[in-house]
Amino acid sequence: MKPKKNFETLAVRTQTSRSSQREHSVPIYTTSSFVFNDAEQARAMFANEIEGNIYSRFSNPNNDEFVQKLCLLEGTEDGIATASGMAAMFCSMAAFLQKGDHILASRALFGSTHQVITQILPKWGIDYSYVDIGDNGAWEKEIRKETKMIFAETPSNPGLDLIDLGYLGEIASKHGIILNIDNCFATPYLQTPASFGAHIITHSATKFIDGQGRVLGGAILGSRDLIEKVRFFARHTGPAMSPFHGWILSKSLETLAVRMEKHCENALKLAQWLETQQGVQWVKYPFLPSHSQHKLALKQMRLGGGMVTFEIKSGLEGGRKFLNNLKMLSLTANLGDTRSIATHPASTTHSKLSKEEKLSTGISDGLIRISTGLEHLDDIISDVEQALAAAI
Ligand SMILES: *Cc1c(COP(=O)(O)O)cnc(C)c1O
Repeated sequence: MKPKKNFETLAVRTQTSRSSQREHSVPIYTTSSFVFNDAEQARAMFANEIEGNIYSRFSNPNNDEFVQKLCLLEGTEDGIATASGMAAMFCSMAAFLQKGDHILASRALFGSTHQVITQILPKWGIDYSYVDIGDNGAWEKEIRKETKMIFAETPSNPGLDLIDLGYLGEIASKHGIILNIDNCFATPYLQTPASFGAHIITHSATKFIDGQGRVLGGAILGSRDLIEKVRFFARHTGPAMSPFHGWILSKSLETLAVRMEKHCENALKLAQWLETQQGVQWVKYPFLPSHSQHKLALKQMRLGGGMVTFEIKSGLEGGRKFLNNLKMLSLTANLGDTRSIATHPASTTHSKLSKEEKLSTGISDGLIRISTGLEHLDDIISDVEQALAAAI
């Protein structure tokens, strides 16, 4: 048996086959279709008797390379690439759920995922309920006989609360429910949900996987059987990734490990520094001992991730002042970029929620979320320091 290669090696060396040009790096296959040698080959490919590319909505060498790598890193058998993270979230639900089914999800979800579950799936008779993140016992109580899928993100956005993956894996298997984990915040470098029993892993590759704020992309990974169903759904509904994005994202995976190491190192040090600051009420970061789920973080994550949240003492107005006084950190909706980014959810992404809704998803008036980038730590801290001083 060949020894299993390590994460970094798999990410760098997994490559779809070379063409007759003997290129070192795989070229971009910008073609909508692929030619058949003869009628018999065309018949056999359409009949699924032999493998091969037919049309780029079904498969493309660049997207296949990206997904093959991601499968090796996540420890799953198969997967498909999608045009965005939301295409992945939607397809991973729509491929399995039908009228009368129920989806159980954690309350703290990415905004558009929340809209899909509460506004779009119900149009087709799919019901949902939410569980408060971190309340282990609550999950099992909410399971009904119609529950077909459990969906969760960990760490959560922007609260950075964790979900116990081992526990969810156990109850999903006990009740025969598909466990679908959005692993966008952690990436497979920090945690592999499949190893805790998750059946489907979903990604927004737009964030840390691209890591440089260039392209949108997503992926759905799992066992061959489950992905066959997703592939059927995606092939006929068309959320295909562009080959150019597949090429970019496959290259991005080659540097994921070194980037995540640095994101996490900068984030931990920033979080430790923030804990010493006067104007800061509290700091949340999974690898700080002050995080209420620190033990769980150490159990299921390799490092604490690139995101840090903190509460500014001067509340809603302080949060706005903090953003307005930043000189280097970007004010933008993305995260997981080489460039550090600050957001103030209470006045932007979550401003439409009621006070109770905000609090139940962990958003307080003075909460600031920082996606820690790859600039020098001293420069990140000095920008945050002067903006904090102006916000008090
Ligand atoms: C950004 C994000 C998504 C959606 O991904 P897009 O690529 O923007 O469509 C889904 N889940 C999480 C946790 C995200 O941060």
